[in-house]
Amino acid sequence: MLDDLSIDPTVIYIFGASGDLAQRKIIPAIYDLFIKDLMPKPFFIIGLARTPLTDDDFRQQLRRGVGQFSQQSKVDDEIWNKFASNIKYIGTEYNDSNIYRSLFADIEQGWRATASRILYLATPPEMFATIVGQLGQSNVFRGKEKYRIVIEKPFGRDLKSAQKLNSALAKVFDESQIYRIDHYLGKETVQNILAFRFANAMWEPIWNRSFIDHVQITVSEQVGVGRRGGYYEHAGALRDMIQNHLLQLMCLVAMEPPTSFQADEIRNKKVDVLHAIRPISRDEVFKFAVRGQYGSGIVAGENVAAYREEPNVAEHSGTETFVAIKFYIDNWRWQGVPFYLRTGKGMEARVSEISLQFRPVPHHPFSKRVIEPNRLAIQIEPKEGIMLLTQAKEPGLVMKIKPVEMHYTYDEVFQYSSPGAYETLLLDVMRGDPGLFMRADQVEMAWSVLSSILEVWQDIPEVGFPNYAAGEWGPQEAERLIAQDGRSWLFPACLEFENKKGDGCDYN
Ligand code: NDP
Repeated sequence: MLDDLSIDPTVIYIFGASGDLAQRKIIPAIYDLFIKDLMPKPFFIIGLARTPLTDDDFRQQLRRGVGQFSQQSKVDDEIWNKFASNIKYIGTEYNDSNIYRSLFADIEQGWRATASRILYLATPPEMFATIVGQLGQSNVFRGKEKYRIVIEKPFGRDLKSAQKLNSALAKVFDESQIYRIDHYLGKETVQNILAFRFANAMWEPIWNRSFIDHVQITVSEQVGVGRRGGYYEHAGALRDMIQNHLLQLMCLVAMEPPTSFQADEIRNKKVDVLHAIRPISRDEVFKFAVRGQYGSGIVAGENVAAYREEPNVAEHSGTETFVAIKFYIDNWRWQGVPFYLRTGKGMEARVSEISLQFRPVPHHPFSKRVIEPNRLAIQIEPKEGIMLLTQAKEPGLVMKIKPVEMHYTYDEVFQYSSPGAYETLLLDVMRGDPGLFMRADQVEMAWSVLSSILEVWQDIPEVGFPNYAAGEWGPQEAERLIAQDGRSWLFPACLEFENKKGDGCDYN
């Protein structure tokens, strides 16, 4: 993330522009940047998809998305019209080479500088290679820093397919022109992990195996798969969440201090973590990884249908909607410290949280009672904040020790609503800063770490699905995974803290 906000004039081409992502995320984020006066001057957006739409139909569709999903409470007609005058639509098949030839002509006549051109692939992933191949025909991209391509997730579905897509991209673009999105990295708290770790002198000396007992990363969703059953059936929680979001969070927690905040320095340090993850052999998969699928249940007081009853999901689907994994990182800092990762849909609460559980005090003179060890919780969702659990003397005439939370949330402290992840990421693409995006080697290494689990789970289908009810914290096997080490899943700090305040944790 650069601190210089001046941006060259820009044309953004959105492939798959008639789709859900464009309407819910990309255009609302661009509109929010426009309202904040952060869009380049001038800019232009060209939407491409197969559906025949006029420019006006397209703009109306986008306006509905902005009304619903941007950070603005109301869409002002005058501002919208000004924004929408920078948008047009091209109805096309993605293999029509004529379209690609005419795509880069003439929009920028009269502009003050040569435009940057952002090619945003928001189509289903099966189309990525076709579009990249077509773009390659025009042979104008390589080495031109002003041409950038943005690729949505999923980036492949295993190591082999990711390598294939990387090599298709590498035929047309230099790595520095490729922006692979993991939208988690655009979240404010995720970026704050770096500031928290490396702008405060107190953490680094204790951020290691001597002081930390273990680390837990939980990303749980209450919602089921909803309308995305068709996609999710071929993905599952391991591909959809662990390979990208949770492994990236783990890298941020475990990485060594960077010498600078240059994009490649941060990415080098993160990929070092992936290289240091102890491989899980095929024989060890069931010892280190647990999968689950939700059955019907109750979430937030509402009846929820089983995953297998969702639209576009097979009646006997073997797709996992929950994963828990234990990793070790074989380096000096983390030797012997387990990292427990879990993620799921249809779970009790919507929470994304990283907890570092410190070792217990070596000796305490107060009583024979066990004192809860210190815990640092980095909260990403639903509220962004930091919680440190410490011990204090309870006021009174006897020495009684009680846990006390030191807690801050972003909105309370900064009184400023965080930009959406897509806003941050789009601005970085327009400024040419790839620091929050995945490099080819990171993506491939993340797939490589999971290869044995993907293979074994495919070879040995789970016969016990569904194995947790919607509204639970996942299957019993996940409890056993951590209990075998004498530990348990920590109740998310945000829920605990808010429950104590008495107003629940429902920030939705
Ligand atoms: P959609 O299914 O809505 O598809 C996007 C557009 O692609 C559609 O409007 C459609 O336009 C076109 N399309 C659909 N099927 C095909 C096909 N078989 N061949 C060619 N074009 C097709 O996807 P989303 O917008 O939900 O997602 C786009 C990308 O973003 C995907 O890679 C997805 O994984 C990723 N993503 C999406 C998220 C989301 O919340 N939606 C979140 C994270 C990532 P038309 O028919 O007009 O050509």
